[in-house]
Amino acid sequence: MDARKLRKTSEGGNAIEFYQRCTKCEAIESAHRMIAACPDCAAPLEFVFEGTYSGAPSDRDDLWKNFDLLPLEDSRNIVALGAGGSPILELPELGDALGGADLFLKLDSDKNPTGTFKDREASVILSRCKELGLDGLVFYSTANTGRAYTHYAAELGLTSYFFMPKQCEYKNTGFQKGPRNHLILVDSHYPNIGPYAKRFAKENGLHAIAPLHERTESYATLAYEQFQEMPDCDFFVQTIASGMGPIGFLRGHRNLIKFGLEERRDVPRIVCVQSEQTNSMYVAYRAGKTEMTPDDLPSEFPDDLFEPTLNSTNPVHNYPALCASLRESDGIITDVGRAAVGQESGRFLKALAKRGIRFLVDQEQSTLIGFAGLVRLAAEGSIGRGDRVLLLATGRGGTESSEIVPADLTIDPSTADPVEVKRRLDVLTNE
Ligand SMILES: [Zn+2]
Repeated sequence: MDARKLRKTSEGGNAIEFYQRCTKCEAIESAHRMIAACPDCAAPLEFVFEGTYSGAPSDRDDLWKNFDLLPLEDSRNIVALGAGGSPILELPELGDALGGADLFLKLDSDKNPTGTFKDREASVILSRCKELGLDGLVFYSTANTGRAYTHYAAELGLTSYFFMPKQCEYKNTGFQKGPRNHLILVDSHYPNIGPYAKRFAKENGLHAIAPLHERTESYATLAYEQFQEMPDCDFFVQTIASGMGPIGFLRGHRNLIKFGLEERRDVPRIVCVQSEQTNSMYVAYRAGKTEMTPDDLPSEFPDDLFEPTLNSTNPVHNYPALCASLRESDGIITDVGRAAVGQESGRFLKALAKRGIRFLVDQEQSTLIGFAGLVRLAAEGSIGRGDRVLLLATGRGGTESSEIVPADLTIDPSTADPVEVKRRLDVLTNE
């Protein structure tokens, strides 16, 4: 037996081993490390699952019902907090707006603890941190990923440092934060945040989490749930910033195909919708690009972004994987502006209100952007009668909380010394 391959404590009678592998040189790494890239050639890694798998979920009601295909060795390390396993709601009265297509909504916004699909990622990554004994966690996001990570880190009593754009401060509601969970506002252009957070981790000897391939597996659960709950699905639709959801969705279907549970033709076509103000991936894809460079990003964004959450902090990094996911699934990417969203949102929100479902649209409009994108695609003839369309409700539902969780510091990354910033944060913890 290869000691680098971890055998899972299966609950469903499956026998699965998993490990990390370099996507380029194919070097094998134990799954017992959280590493950003191949130590030999610096290429991205991927998780590999091998063995026998029946495709049947356990009777859990969260994303961990597909534990056997998630990168965790021991189910006792699961930190679930109810994320995933969300219900699918049919909205037949909206078919008229969609050329006769049948619309279904996957309600992550309602089911997940911090009100967005990002809790899937937080649950998987923080469970990994527990299993690997990691503490002193550093991460960055426009809002929702960091809110979710902080919420789960607080649950585990871990120390965390969350860097986010100052412009998104108003989104800091509806999550838990303990005295060791630091929230740092960054007063700068969004693409400067990631590099600063990585420098902060390195200079202070902390852990920058989480690499793309780790995050990808958490969104593969969207594919497993779609396969189990709505196998006859033609389109999987998501509003995207950097496209983590669709990247993981295709990843999940690749696993299902590998274990012989479905054919490639059964994979739904992936539809991505971007906000027109932050549509760099849409523009790159339309131009036929398979990679992006920083030159593909605008040099500045308006101060009053319609939906700042969708201004990804790392589109250049994620774009190759998103592009591959679109091509492999015969997918579509589109964009919509503020006016179209305003025009289409009324009937969508009305259909949900009738069923007692609310979105906190003052906090986030991404699901509305997704619906408006579908209306555009129907008008263009890309979707129509008889198509079964599954829209992921990306955000934001759940608890109504208008109380903003205060940040600990605001920094300018061009001048703030990372060691000094940590020292100031540590003083706050000890007060
Ligand atoms: Zn390699």
